[in-house]
Amino acid sequence: MARMRLKNKVAVVTGAGRGIGRAIVTIFAQEGAKVVVNYNSSQKEASMVVEEIRKMGGEALMIGADVSKADEVKSMIQRTVEHFGRVDILVNNAGIMIPSSFLESSEENWDQTMDVNLKGAYLCCREVAPIMLEQSKGKIINISSISGLFERSAVACVDYVVSKAGMIGLTRALAVHLGPTINVNAICPGTVETDIVASLDPETKKLMRDESLLKRLGKPEEIAYTALFLASNESDFITGEILTVAGGRGMR
Ligand code: NAP
Repeated sequence: MARMRLKNKVAVVTGAGRGIGRAIVTIFAQEGAKVVVNYNSSQKEASMVVEEIRKMGGEALMIGADVSKADEVKSMIQRTVEHFGRVDILVNNAGIMIPSSFLESSEENWDQTMDVNLKGAYLCCREVAPIMLEQSKGKIINISSISGLFERSAVACVDYVVSKAGMIGLTRALAVHLGPTINVNAICPGTVETDIVASLDPETKKLMRDESLLKRLGKPEEIAYTALFLASNESDFITGEILTVAGGRGMR
């Protein structure tokens, strides 16, 4: 049962047409937020998400933008403010992983991964921060990964691991630079059943399941409920934190 914890808040969620982003935007809308459903290539999926949210009485706006492009991010945030009048919550969820071993990796894949996963988050933060500062409150949530934290998970592609570790640094640095007005936190999901995981081989997926104390992979909603907590007033005294949501995998 929704408690309307985000009533009248405006939330921008990047990469919200599929996977974890889709779950976040849906749960935010159920909790009363007006949401921007950002997509890059999944226009059809994003329009279905918007339709579902409108059917349940919520407000959603679909905006296509490649988060790695500064001009597209700028226009996405401008359109958000024109339409909804403000931005209270940003979730940097958009991310890619291009499977490759280190020795077979390419500079092109490195650049693409950094551009989407890390620069994309930086660009979105840079656009929303002045608006949130002006409003005297804001919440930024970065979806990093357990790969950025835990050495056994660092078997994933090197460029992906580095981009996700970078998001942890970005989170801490921005918590310092944007405090006391804006709370900036990161979530490090373990393995969650979405398209990004479908590209992993069955052996790796089994290893990830076995390493989890709960002996299973996560569901997108389980990351979304953590994002809801960090977006709501219930987490007002939390900033600069890196919250692992991984069924006990990598527990130290
Ligand atoms: P997914 O199903 O593959 O979805 C990735 C999302 O990122 C899509 O909505 C995609 O949008 C968006 N995206 C990719 N490039 C983009 C760009 N240039 N501009 C805007 N959006 C872009 O993956 P997921 O599992 O939901 O992952 C969501 C986030 O969680 C990622 O940051 C991922 O690294 C992180 N994560 C996932 C797991 C996991 O096990 N699933 C674990 C740890 C962390 P389009 O389809 O519209 O291009």
